[in-house]
Amino acid sequence: MCEAGGADLIHIDVMDGRFVPNLTFGEKVIRTVRAVTKLPLDVHLMVVEPAGYFESFAGAGANGLTFHVEAEPHVQRQLSRIRELGCKAGLALNPATPVVAAADVTNDLDLLLIMTVNPGFGGQKFIPRSVEKVRAARRLLKESSSMAALEVDGGIDRETITSVWKAGADTFVAGNAIFSAKDPRAEINELRTRCSSYA
Ligand code: ZN
Repeated sequence: MCEAGGADLIHIDVMDGRFVPNLTFGEKVIRTVRAVTKLPLDVHLMVVEPAGYFESFAGAGANGLTFHVEAEPHVQRQLSRIRELGCKAGLALNPATPVVAAADVTNDLDLLLIMTVNPGFGGQKFIPRSVEKVRAARRLLKESSSMAALEVDGGIDRETITSVWKAGADTFVAGNAIFSAKDPRAEINELRTRCSSYA
């Protein structure tokens, strides 16, 4: 359904019940999703000690691995490890973590993920301050000539997507907005239109 609706990638939220309260899925589900789609699998690790999962998730077919700066003291080392495994290296920032936390690794990144809700639950309300933060993140990437994608995740829907797009985000994770829509395929298109109409 996602593929038919024109999604560019499948974002998979891995939660460990420690970094965030919920438990979702791991290697087996990544492998299963891999078997049914050719779309890139953008795996978001909301887990403590994320490095312990890199190898098995890459082996299961992940194309990108994004971990949280709040969960890992050796950020640069782990970003390099992800690239060595042939995946795109992503770093995620919680709402209370300033953009400057990524300043010294902008050229080690393929993706910078700005959380627009506190991670751990689907269906949460977008935090308005995120728009300013996305703007600061775009500035940071530009200043260092980083080619990293700038992704937003949490509460992205018809109402919120244009503001973060205008602020400089180029990759949008929408869960609830798409899967609760009457016509999920059409919703992907609608979200895309809400950006491109400002292009
Ligand atoms: Zn996510």
